[in-house]
Amino acid sequence: MTPRMRLQPEAMGSGLTSQRVRDRLVERLRANGIADERVLEAVRLVPRHLFVDEALATRAYEDTALPIGHGQTISQPWVVARMTELLLQVDPRKVLEVGTGSGYQAAILAALGLEVHTVERIGDLLRSARKRFRQLGLNVRSKHDDGRLGWEENGPYDAIIVTAAAPALVQGLAGQLAPGGMLVAPVGSASAQNLIVLERDRGGTLSQRELEAVVFVPLLPGLVD
Ligand code: SAH
Repeated sequence: MTPRMRLQPEAMGSGLTSQRVRDRLVERLRANGIADERVLEAVRLVPRHLFVDEALATRAYEDTALPIGHGQTISQPWVVARMTELLLQVDPRKVLEVGTGSGYQAAILAALGLEVHTVERIGDLLRSARKRFRQLGLNVRSKHDDGRLGWEENGPYDAIIVTAAAPALVQGLAGQLAPGGMLVAPVGSASAQNLIVLERDRGGTLSQRELEAVVFVPLLPGLVD
């Protein structure tokens, strides 16, 4: 599994979006414990500056979450890398993401060669994300829906990644997890959450562990145009 991406001139960046600046982000992630070289290479390749508003492009390679409109954020690169690294442990082929947002996390997964399905409740964000997938030649399946329901028709998934926080794990999602699969989700209150990893073993038994503290926007009900 080697990350790949079709790079067009605007995806190459310049100045504060240049490859040198991106490489510095990768080194920072490595220094902060991200060890999977495939993930680091995907972060190096995917042009994060194309996933934020032009006015914020010069900040795209800082290790920080940034606003993407509608009160939502593109996740911090370290968190994207960490969750991706966790999911790769089960050697997935098919992944479901809940909370497309900018599309950056989905793009990282697609660049790793995974079959990505993603669901977003805010239509406007989803339309922008789809444009980016097209522009970068990434094959990502997406749907405008309440992701708490998952995406049953295309399941089960080897990995499920939830990128918005809920007070408890969404139980129904575990039902779309294949044997040997892993679900990663931030769980907790608006201000204090932890990453929860839920694994289904080959026999079907579920086990759960709690990892580091993170901050995500909330998982919300209902659809917005
Ligand atoms: N993965 C995104 C992170 C975006 S922030 C990225 O890489 O940019 C979380 C996203 O989850 C927001 O876009 C928000 O609208 C979306 N979201 C919140 N609740 C949702 C739900 N029930 N179903 C689908 N998407 C949801």
